[in-house]
Amino acid sequence: MKIALVNPPWSFDGSIYFGCREPHLPLELGYARALLTEAGHEVLLIDAHLEGLDEAAAVARVAAFAPAMTVVTTAPSYLFWRCAPPELRVPAAFLNRLGGCGGIRIAVGPHGSSTPGATLRKLTADAVVMGECEEVIVSLAAAPGLEAMRRVPATAWRTGGDTLVNGGPHIGGFKDLPALHWPTEWLQRHDHHHHRFDAAPDGPGAEVEASRGCPYACSFCAKLDFRDGYRRRRLDLVLAEIDRLIDQGVTYVYFIDEIFLPQKPLLEALVARDLRFGIQTRIDLWKPDMLDLLGRAGCVSIEAGVESLTVAGRDALAKRCRIGTDELTALLIEARRHVPFVQANLIGTPEDDPDDIAAWRAHVQAHGVWANDPVPLYPYPASPQYHALWGRPDDRAWERAHEHYLAAFDRFSDIQDERPVPLDRLEAACGR
Ligand code: SF4
Repeated sequence: MKIALVNPPWSFDGSIYFGCREPHLPLELGYARALLTEAGHEVLLIDAHLEGLDEAAAVARVAAFAPAMTVVTTAPSYLFWRCAPPELRVPAAFLNRLGGCGGIRIAVGPHGSSTPGATLRKLTADAVVMGECEEVIVSLAAAPGLEAMRRVPATAWRTGGDTLVNGGPHIGGFKDLPALHWPTEWLQRHDHHHHRFDAAPDGPGAEVEASRGCPYACSFCAKLDFRDGYRRRRLDLVLAEIDRLIDQGVTYVYFIDEIFLPQKPLLEALVARDLRFGIQTRIDLWKPDMLDLLGRAGCVSIEAGVESLTVAGRDALAKRCRIGTDELTALLIEARRHVPFVQANLIGTPEDDPDDIAAWRAHVQAHGVWANDPVPLYPYPASPQYHALWGRPDDRAWERAHEHYLAAFDRFSDIQDERPVPLDRLEAACGR
């Protein structure tokens, strides 16, 4: 089968989206391409965001390829599935313009994983994949005909006015996903070093995944329908992918892992390689000797979720943090001795006193650790917080979360310059 895999040309005007707006490698589509190619399919992978293609150019390339199936993602790379733009206007506009030129139209991403009916309607797609998508895309391509495709588990379909849902979200095998190989032209365009602040890029950057999911269940973390249970990828495959990237000139990778746990074999293998890298993790899971190894391995950026400075605040967020604030603070400062940029993330909670936060931020900043102004929570439909507030997500879940977010907070994160726009305005051109 001929299959087009598309990361559309993202724009974020008016969005609450607070993830990074630079292009990042679409790992989920990269894995899908590798598995599809291995199974004998012909694949066109387009990253309009990274390649600088506008919607018309991306559609023209898909139309020229004339695929039997086109897959579009609703989040700009796996890295941001847990904090995707709530609005679907970009993938919807792409599919609108594509019309019938791309064969069967499939959407993957966090939206269809949590709210398949609403996502199908807004995108006017034929189907959505629920959960981690790469293996499901292969099953769709292998199905002998449309009726068989409609029975593939972890998919949902539009059938007349109804939604046909086949089971629940897919949990990928992940551990054996093949080492990815990206076009050199793509990497040369990828001059962004995600979340790196110690130095200017000295070569191309890339994103890599060594583990997926997380054993914790913090209330605000949107992963219930995808990337939930913790799995570690085979080390030989991770290193083969990294060595290819180094051969192609890459000097920095960002591990998109939800929680980069201390892994001695990986870190020891990285010590021997000329590569810098960044991670997101929980600082309470590290010991001083492993922070030393982390620094020697080439880590130049740590983003650590502290969230709250009080035990009550961390408990309210279900952090399951076993150490106190003083120990967390000491570990952050210890990490900074080995890694040139360390960030502690804070979330706005009623349990934390603003003066205490200001004093703590000044204290850690005096030791070189950056801590953000506490950010508000967006109750993503895949988060325990959403389920606690409203139960299982229904077709109005994103609207409900958006209204709650806009109404509950009169000030926004220090990384957001403009007031976000209501969801119905952002999605004015989406299907009804
Ligand atoms: S530790 Fe991080 S990745 Fe894990 S549930 Fe909490 S916020 Fe999510």
